[in-house]
Amino acid sequence: MLIVQKYGGSSVANTDRIKHVASRVAQCRARGDRVVVVVSAMSGVTDNLIKLAREIMPLPNEREMDMLLATGEQTTIALTAIALHSLGIPAVSLTGAQAGIVTDGVHTKARIQNITPRKIHELLNQGQVVIVAGFQGQTREGQVTTLGRGGSDLTAIALAAAIKADLCQICTDVDGVYTADPRLVPDAKKLEEISYDEMLELASLGAKVMQSRSVEFAKKFGVVFEVRSSLNDHPGTIVKEETKNMEAVVVRGVSLDKNQAKVTLVGVPDKPGVAARIFKAIGDAGVNVDMIVQNISHGSGAPATDLSFTVDKPDLPRAQKTLDALKPDIGFGRILATEKIGKLSIVGVGMKSHTGVAGRMFDTLAREGVNIDMISTSEIKISVVVDLGKAEQAMRAVHAAFLG
Ligand code: ASP
Ligand code: MG
Repeated sequence: MLIVQKYGGSSVANTDRIKHVASRVAQCRARGDRVVVVVSAMSGVTDNLIKLAREIMPLPNEREMDMLLATGEQTTIALTAIALHSLGIPAVSLTGAQAGIVTDGVHTKARIQNITPRKIHELLNQGQVVIVAGFQGQTREGQVTTLGRGGSDLTAIALAAAIKADLCQICTDVDGVYTADPRLVPDAKKLEEISYDEMLELASLGAKVMQSRSVEFAKKFGVVFEVRSSLNDHPGTIVKEETKNMEAVVVRGVSLDKNQAKVTLVGVPDKPGVAARIFKAIGDAGVNVDMIVQNISHGSGAPATDLSFTVDKPDLPRAQKTLDALKPDIGFGRILATEKIGKLSIVGVGMKSHTGVAGRMFDTLAREGVNIDMISTSEIKISVVVDLGKAEQAMRAVHAAFLG
């Protein structure tokens, strides 16, 4: 079998862990498999490099950031190759560029344009284990680029597609994808399988198992992969295209995102073009808006309405500044903002064919005495915003109702 195995930062955090990775790769080889290993930087290294640059100036040049950040993975590939050599196994490390990964020129979040895996095949044919630096590539002009935080996942998935691997394993510090974060919900269970779309919803909802972009890529190119532990041999979670029998389960997982803040604009004039102006300004300020709720008009005189929406917590100051500037112009009343919210979501492709799911969720929250602040839904997801103080309790109750 031809296997791509990716090891994340915590799996290569120190030389003991790297030696452990080497022994796992050695086991695959002993079974007769050919292995391409993709590694991240040792945990904390990328963050630390960013910190160093920002000690010098707050907004460093992005080309130089890529040059800097790519060194993290370059350290790990060499150490992993050395660890394999110490076991008597032939291995060669390759940078993203050497592995044939060509990207566009958008520094710090480049997109892979194509992969020419000639060198990889050549080395595999010589019986070498090939170790590729995750997270990095090169433009056609030879500039070093990186693929966005968490981008080693993308390297692994894209390589698996390019070399038509039989198996792609994302090895990490958890046993797989769970029905909820086991640190918050002790009864959470590991899933045997999950569809790409469910995985994407859970990732974007704050269950940060994997980089969303890499799951999107896997979906687009039909790369089936497994999320599993690098520390034990338990089977992990298979991520793949949705199958008919997946719909039998109404809710696949529950997630809680504590990283959003809520903004309410009181007394917004209710006339055409106002929402457009507000969200255009917010968007231009680079603030990502998630949920939006507008109430019906109230008051006598000119119709006015309240408008609430959520933004990523770190974006809140920027959103407030933008709105302050807009306030006299548009003529709304107060701007209320709070960071004390949690966004609780249930996700499952089974929602497409089951009724009464929202009612059951809201009923569970009511019985816990949890007030619902905002609601949004998609075909396979229902999200509610609740008070942060009650969010974890609400999560456990909803998990018990659907998955207990
Ligand atoms: N080292 C990079 C990061 O920390 C890429 C990765 O770990 O996947 O974001
Ligand atoms: Mg990582």
